[in-house]
Amino acid sequence: MRINGMEWFQVGRWFYLLIHTEEGITGLGEGGIHGYPEAIGGVLQAWQPYLLGKDPLQIEHHWQFLYRNAHFRGAVIMSALSAIDLALWDIAGKHFGVPAWQLLGGKCRDRIRLYMHVGGETADDLAASAAAAVRDGFTAVRFTPFPHNYPELRYAELLEQMLTRVAAVRETVGNGVDLCVEIHRRMDPHHASGLALELAKYRPYFLEDPLVPDSIQRMGDLQRSIQVPIATGERLHTIWEFNELLAAGGCRFIRPDVCMVGGLTHAKKIAAIAEAYHVGVIPHNPLSPVSTAACVQLDACIPNFALQEYTGEDVPPKSTILKQPLVREGGYLLVPDRPGIGVELDMDVVRAYPPVAKVIATPLHEDGSVADW
Ligand SMILES: [Mg+2]
Repeated sequence: MRINGMEWFQVGRWFYLLIHTEEGITGLGEGGIHGYPEAIGGVLQAWQPYLLGKDPLQIEHHWQFLYRNAHFRGAVIMSALSAIDLALWDIAGKHFGVPAWQLLGGKCRDRIRLYMHVGGETADDLAASAAAAVRDGFTAVRFTPFPHNYPELRYAELLEQMLTRVAAVRETVGNGVDLCVEIHRRMDPHHASGLALELAKYRPYFLEDPLVPDSIQRMGDLQRSIQVPIATGERLHTIWEFNELLAAGGCRFIRPDVCMVGGLTHAKKIAAIAEAYHVGVIPHNPLSPVSTAACVQLDACIPNFALQEYTGEDVPPKSTILKQPLVREGGYLLVPDRPGIGVELDMDVVRAYPPVAKVIATPLHEDGSVADW
């Protein structure tokens, strides 16, 4: 089997790659760095001459060849590599007539437990949104407890408001639902520690990204100082970065993004490193249903899967772009038996969604200085 064509395109803010073969099998992949599609396309353009004519089943070899081809690294290159890797696993599955999870070691589970995004400005709104998700069958909900004017609040005010929101959700959904509290890197280590100590009584399942991820050592210091599990890693790219995070004791859950860490090939290795630390895997998944499908392939075949991020596939374009969407039963996605990564784009629908350009809107603190988000 030989690769005889590649095409890439943007749908809304999502970036897709199709890899074609002489045998007529086409693989689908998604690249994770939304907002900079021309950059991913530039990498793919440069790599295309290497891939054309190659055997698509030599996935690990192509991964290593492309990763080692230059001394440059980072999100753009890893997004391009992820899209290629996912497309090659899709081709391999279709070639052998089995799901990617079968080729990656077989199923560890039949359904994938989800955590659903909920939201609301006030504590009541947030609690109502969480209650609606629970009525829909979800057993874990994720929310950010920040009010919209959080940059204007003093620490004690902010802490009080955040605790009020978390308390409202816990009171509403009870102890039968896991709470995933997203901090969006908005705190420094000492204030995040103060938050986590007070938050512990509401028993959150995890505290997501309390700090900017730039210092693995500080994340480790924070995790050792608190009991609430930290979940982090959505901005990391490789086994080496995740290994350093884990060795520093920086979290209890890792958040690899299969569209950012070099696809299923590298994500499976990252999960294995985490397994050695008794750390669970909660794949990051803010992108399209193709990313969700790729996550499900990983989730199905790793023993230390914990939860899957899910933003809802019920609203267009997410609800419309796949020929056969994944099947959700309550708070779970069923592991599909279809070959490859198990989904196909409906190209007629996809063409109806033009590219959406990234808006450069970095948040600012009240004094005009740059914040993160
Ligand atoms: Mg996040």
